[in-house]
Amino acid sequence: MATYAYRDAERTDSIFASVVENRDERFYCPNPHCTAHLHICAVNGSKKAYFRATKRQFPHIHGCIYGLNSMEFDKDQFEETLFDFEETVNAFCSDSATEHKTVKQRDTLYHNGCVKARPPRTLRQVYKMCKNYPVNDTYNGKQISEMILDDRSEYRYPNGIFGSKIVESVACSLLYDKTAMQIYLTGPVFSRRYKLILQFEDAKIYQIIRTELYNNRQHIIVVAGIWERAAKWNCFLTKVTSKKQVAVIPIHR
Ligand SMILES: [Zn+2]
Repeated sequence: MATYAYRDAERTDSIFASVVENRDERFYCPNPHCTAHLHICAVNGSKKAYFRATKRQFPHIHGCIYGLNSMEFDKDQFEETLFDFEETVNAFCSDSATEHKTVKQRDTLYHNGCVKARPPRTLRQVYKMCKNYPVNDTYNGKQISEMILDDRSEYRYPNGIFGSKIVESVACSLLYDKTAMQIYLTGPVFSRRYKLILQFEDAKIYQIIRTELYNNRQHIIVVAGIWERAAKWNCFLTKVTSKKQVAVIPIHR
């Protein structure tokens, strides 16, 4: 399900489910490659509204994450004003000792200000947040398209992927090179415009992530990292130093 959708097939006029009044109106999926027609639905036992592809003839295409029930992001559960994208990506990349310190500092913030809500903190939470806002929208002042490279924001990445970004990807047919301690992906999911290299230095982390991605190679793979140009053409690389940098999004419904 999606929390926002478009009124037009060109995807210029976005609207959040919470403000839709006409239950008969037809909307378009946030995924520019998806042909689903969406209609507003209320979730059972909740006042929240979502867009669903309720017409059998216009379903989400295979691999469209907006068809998944698990993709909802409840903005009321998170404190937007405490979110800092750079800091969050750095925390994903850091080892557990450094992370402990960061978390401690944040928790102090909550106690002093009596704020119980937290910003999105895990990769899955940040990814879902990004997927539930239009890419030209902002979250705590930062544009969604500056945080995530996916099929919606790809047009803003004509020269490649640089700096702190979350990239939505799929496995390459040659998934890894044991000797080089690398994993090979391609993204965004539908256009597959860029080749991605995950470079590991820690053999243990490499083995764990390689096994996880190999076992889930038909699904969507989300990677948070600090990206730079790789030696090969059209290819971008991030070091992976922590398991928190990689998440698998199962696309089977
Ligand atoms: Zn869709």
